[in-house]
Amino acid sequence: PSAIRFSGVSRHYGNVKAVDGVDMDIAEGEFFAMLGPSGSGKTTSLRLIAGFEQPTAGDIHIFGHVAQGLPPYKRNVNTVFQDYALFPHLNVRDNVAYGLMVAGQAKAERYRSAERALDMVALGGYGDRKPSALSGGQRQRVALARALVNEPKALLLDEPLGALDLKLREQMQEELKSLQRSLGITFIFVTHDQGEALSMADRVAVFNEGRIVQTGTPEDIYYRP
Ligand code: ADP
Ligand code: ADP
Repeated sequence: PSAIRFSGVSRHYGNVKAVDGVDMDIAEGEFFAMLGPSGSGKTTSLRLIAGFEQPTAGDIHIFGHVAQGLPPYKRNVNTVFQDYALFPHLNVRDNVAYGLMVAGQAKAERYRSAERALDMVALGGYGDRKPSALSGGQRQRVALARALVNEPKALLLDEPLGALDLKLREQMQEELKSLQRSLGITFIFVTHDQGEALSMADRVAVFNEGRIVQTGTPEDIYYRP
């Protein structure tokens, strides 16, 4: 079944065609990469899926539902931002549980969910720390735990490894890959790094100037550039 489907989707800002007539079908459980140079429309596409932006033309379906009119919190997708956007004054546990608190969940229950999410990213026992007492890779994993805590059906990742150094980046590539496999949910990530897209994704969409110019498996993309 389809997780995300774009049919002729555009998002124009005045004369700027950020996304311009995109058709795209992402399957449930797929690890999907949007690859392309800066300004090619990847982030805007991700924001359209998340519901932070609305298309100026075309239709989006999310897990079989028409996306139009669905607010972000009803889409079953969560976003991991490039800069992690953790609250510096909250400890790790409260950062992860924050969305559940806003949703009105009782403390014991949301802390239980937070601990489970922290275990998933190998940060069990780090709940009392402040983000400032963590390494870059650990902060990244907190952001992942926060995005997983309410069991979304898809995770959206915008340049998730962009802030990490090369060695950590390679390690996190492996970790993201195995996390996605063990959860079995859809991961959609944005990158301008071809090597990263080809090594991590099941399928890659190559963006240029707001359009998808190629879609395929890493082998397809590598051998038919
Ligand atoms: P990418 O993620 O591939 O770097 P973006 O989707 O961020 O590309 O941007 C695509 C194009 O749309 C760029 O030219 C960008 O400047 C423009 N753009 C994105 N968001 C806005 C906005 N809110 N207003 C005007 N132009 C925008
Ligand atoms: P990224 O680092 O993913 O490329 P940007 O820094 O380009 O993201 O964009 C961050 C925010 O600014 C987004 O909300 C995007 O829509 C908006 N934005 C991007 N380009 C422009 C632009 N040219 N004019 C107005 N807003 C923009």
